[in-house]
Amino acid sequence: MNDLSATRRCVKCGLCLPHCPTFQLTGNEADSPRGRISLMQMLDQPESDWSPGLFKHLDQCLLCHACEAMCPSDVPYDGLMDRARERLEPRRHRSLAQRLVRAAGLGLLTSGSGRRITAALLGTVRALGVRRLMRLPGMPDRAKRLLELIPPPVPRGAQPQDVATTARLGQINLFTGCTGELFDRATLQSTRQLLGRLGYRVITPDRQGCCGALHQHNGEPRKASQLAAANRTAFGANDDPIVTCASGCCAQLLNYAELYPQTDGFSRRVTDIMAFIADRHAGGLCLKPLQEKVALHLPCTQRNLLGQDALLRVLGWIPGLDLRIVNPEGGCCGAAGSYMLTQPELADRLGAAMVDRVLATDARILLTTNIGCSLQLAAGIRGRGQALEVMHPVTLLDTLLD
Ligand code: SF4
Ligand code: SF4
Repeated sequence: MNDLSATRRCVKCGLCLPHCPTFQLTGNEADSPRGRISLMQMLDQPESDWSPGLFKHLDQCLLCHACEAMCPSDVPYDGLMDRARERLEPRRHRSLAQRLVRAAGLGLLTSGSGRRITAALLGTVRALGVRRLMRLPGMPDRAKRLLELIPPPVPRGAQPQDVATTARLGQINLFTGCTGELFDRATLQSTRQLLGRLGYRVITPDRQGCCGALHQHNGEPRKASQLAAANRTAFGANDDPIVTCASGCCAQLLNYAELYPQTDGFSRRVTDIMAFIADRHAGGLCLKPLQEKVALHLPCTQRNLLGQDALLRVLGWIPGLDLRIVNPEGGCCGAAGSYMLTQPELADRLGAAMVDRVLATDARILLTTNIGCSLQLAAGIRGRGQALEVMHPVTLLDTLLD
């Protein structure tokens, strides 16, 4: 528990530095993986010996996994940062505004009642007009930032029971997480429709909730463990696959096996929607052609944890598609879970750079596989007055399935 001894595996070679988005941004060693590992090593010393910038630089880490993915010494950076933040949590002194942002980011979406409150708030804000509220004099920057992220409403469409088929190919559980029904309904509807048309019965267990990634990475592993236990119960003890359509949630559900070894069977059932299609329909799908440039953004969790091969294979089945990968050499859009709310300045700079790359593709459609990235990029694109459609690849597949 809280053991940081694995920091000693770091040989300080610096090979990870060019891959770190925050180091690229600030050029400060303390914002690099190597610098942060040195800061973590200070946590075993008396607090009076800690560097004054220790909290700031550890908080500025995106937990994007880019360093861990390429480290030749297999430093388990992600787990180390989780443990470091857990240690720091009791020593923090947050302002009221910071406490409110944290409570909203971690608390509001993790319970059924919190999600109902959020849904009601969303409805009210949309009715009043997001743009109008943003222009109100005196509106705090943090509130403006939250408003910017709100996507346009998606009408309630096909429900699980509407697309249930003869289930000739079996039954699938859909993981919606804490934000899916509120912020990514289009993706969930496309997933239900596509899987239903392919011959699966899609079930959405109603007691499921947040995957726990936000709490795990923000110093609250006990709460993350409670959320994992609730998901285990919600999805029952059977062998039906659990399909996710957000790469961040998928990575966390897969990580249950390591975090909570007793849930090993659960993680074996978890699969990302694109990997599921690539695996179960390896011969390809019958898709209408799309003679168009389409941009693909690879979220950090997709690139560094889930892998991109299955995703690219499935998109390669679309006849005529001119796929432009936005970030083939890496980089983060700045969403990174609650980072876009807690580190707005760095998140904005990372987001702006990624939007530049998206617009340089000259595409009309942007695909991305994680809800946080989708919200962050869509807000940036709207802010530039551009009209790109941002969607999950499963939505594109659903529109093209013959
Ligand atoms: S984390 Fe890995 S790649 Fe980075 S300096 Fe340490 S050993 Fe080298
Ligand atoms: S997780 Fe990402 S942001 Fe954090 S140190 Fe590693 S590469 Fe940099």
